[in-house]
Amino acid sequence: GVKGFSVYAGGELGSNPAVAVKIEDFVADNEILQVAEAVKRLFDKYGDRSNKHKARLRYVVGRIGAEEFVKLYQSERDEISKQGLKGDIPQLRDIASCFEVSKLNVDDENRRITEGNNILPEKTEGLFTIKLDLNLGDIPANDLVKVGQIAEEFSQGLVTTTQLQNLLITSVPRQNVEKAKSALEGLSIDVFGDDRPKVVTCTGAATCKLGLCLSRGLADAISKNLAKDDKQQSETIIRISGCLNSCGHHYIADIGLQGKAKRVNGVSILKPLMTSGRK
Ligand code: SF4
Repeated sequence: GVKGFSVYAGGELGSNPAVAVKIEDFVADNEILQVAEAVKRLFDKYGDRSNKHKARLRYVVGRIGAEEFVKLYQSERDEISKQGLKGDIPQLRDIASCFEVSKLNVDDENRRITEGNNILPEKTEGLFTIKLDLNLGDIPANDLVKVGQIAEEFSQGLVTTTQLQNLLITSVPRQNVEKAKSALEGLSIDVFGDDRPKVVTCTGAATCKLGLCLSRGLADAISKNLAKDDKQQSETIIRISGCLNSCGHHYIADIGLQGKAKRVNGVSILKPLMTSGRK
């Protein structure tokens, strides 16, 4: 098959969250720069760069409507398809070809793998993904190096990050799953979780100038008070953003918390605001 993407534009999780509009059902991966250029030209013509608070595509969608937005995008795209892109066009790196799954031998067909939250079967029979649960996305540098070595030894050598601030070692052949797992158990942190709800957070006011709340501190406090080993809760996702900018993506959580300043009896106070429920 051809590798490619569906493309959405004009969405945002900031102060006025909006769902993105689908602008392409499918584009091949080598056309993606044309798509980016068409969206940029669309914004150059119809967006508002004079006001930084309104300099977002979603305001264009809001002003002209989704249908017109897609039509205008399509005409920019058609123009670019006719003329081609100008200047030096960077080549897209084919990362997958550097980590060939086909070189992995899957054997030991009768071996039973205990699947669970951290051992996930892949579409290709006999290959598994191992998920490493990281607390707030943190991992000591030495452990990260070891994770890379473990991936190199027992899989295709690729480690990917996830939106939930975890790591994935992909394409682990069945016969290597237990070996990789016991090597990971030798890290200085527990990466196999304890069935608590997942807490995801932005950096917060500790290091972010825009932050109103110490979102990582709140995440720690919440995690400590959540029950361990509760299978029913383990799929719950809590997301925290230190301010309305929503870097912690709190609007798409089961429970979302946002740092907010409020004036009470003439005094400014900071308080987390419960914002959403995904389910
Ligand atoms: S949500 Fe706010 S506090 Fe958190 S990283 Fe983004 S800008 Fe900073």
